[in-house]
Amino acid sequence: MESILLLVHTETDGALAKPALEALTAALALGGELTVGLVGGAVEPAANLAAAAGARRILAVTGEPFTQPRYATDAAAAEAIARAAGAAIVLAPATARWARALPGVAYRLGGRIDTHATGLAARDGAPAVNRWFYRQRMEAVLTRTARPWLVLLDAGCFAPWSEATPQATPGTAAGSAQVEFVPVEAPQSRTTVTGVQAPKADEQTIRPDAKLLFVAGAGWTKKQPDGAVHVEEAQQLILGALRGAQASLGGSKSLVDLSGEGQAVLPFMTHLNQVGQTGSTPRHQKGLSTCCHGEEPHVVGWRFVTERRAVNLDPNCGWSRGKADVVYVADAFAVVRELNRLLG
Ligand SMILES: Cc1cc2nc3c(=O)[nH]c(=O)nc-3n(C[C@H](O)[C@H](O)[C@H](O)COP(=O)(O)OP(=O)(O)OC[C@H]3O[C@@H](n4cnc5c(N)ncnc54)[C@H](O)[C@@H]3O)c2cc1C
Repeated sequence: MESILLLVHTETDGALAKPALEALTAALALGGELTVGLVGGAVEPAANLAAAAGARRILAVTGEPFTQPRYATDAAAAEAIARAAGAAIVLAPATARWARALPGVAYRLGGRIDTHATGLAARDGAPAVNRWFYRQRMEAVLTRTARPWLVLLDAGCFAPWSEATPQATPGTAAGSAQVEFVPVEAPQSRTTVTGVQAPKADEQTIRPDAKLLFVAGAGWTKKQPDGAVHVEEAQQLILGALRGAQASLGGSKSLVDLSGEGQAVLPFMTHLNQVGQTGSTPRHQKGLSTCCHGEEPHVVGWRFVTERRAVNLDPNCGWSRGKADVVYVADAFAVVRELNRLLG
């Protein structure tokens, strides 16, 4: 196998987040000589972990300018590490930071980049990369002759590395990392990070690590059998289910588009929640669809959801045509009310 560089950025405490640990598993499984490149304010815990995992070289770019996610500094750090490592294959987790910076780095290095890799295997001494096309309808296996070849690995496709992972070099002690610091002049930047604005933890509805994806469709905002709409109650029921099950919230396109149409809307539902052909393709173990018709452009976003159930008043909805494992022909208001009672 060709030489591999794994690029990761560290958290504020110098540790590695889950996507980086997943990418480490993928890099080790390829079997080539591994260099780990670290970018961040503190890198020691990550360097120790990389050493324990069996990395041959550990390169790092540190310093205040490299603590913040910013194209100019991230690209400069990644380019410097890639040149110092001279690796043929450069792997990185598809975090917002690397997804933004690495295509430009590939150009600077005269290499090529592929994004959204969901699988990686060694084939004739070189990597073969799995990638889905046409909104997850077709899967391809790619190889390339151009080098360096940069590959961004999607989150949730590999088990995160831990000390117990079999690829760890036996007998390598944590805390023995020899880090080579790569000097990088921080480029001039007009971007200054002044703070982070994020929703309060209990308002967070997109939870990639949740076991359950709870999908709400436009039916929640439609006239119900009594002839009236019950958006207020729909809101309470959906939020109750999310809290009770610690589920992640998905929406159909019709529902997330309603806010633009001046109709009754669920205020916590945004386009970021949209699942489907023109939305996201989340990777939860289980999915529960409520008040959503299950049309193909929506269901294509459920490609990686393993166990699917749906609640719909209409026995002829798309879910009942082989798209769900179980369909409850029932009133979702009644079902979720009962579900929330059971969840306590
Ligand atoms: C190019 C293209 C791209 C698209 N991309 C996407 C995409 O990414 N994601 C996406 O979601 N859609 C997408 N769509 C739209 C998609 O085809 C559907 O129009 C959309 O998914 C319908 O949303 P819905 O099922 O929530 O709404 P509706 O079709 O209005 O269905 C509402 C459902 O709620 C049910 N219902 C109502 N009240 C209750 C109740 N009390 N209990 C139980 N069930 C109830 C009804 O029976 C009905 O089945 C795309 C379309 C096109 C053309």
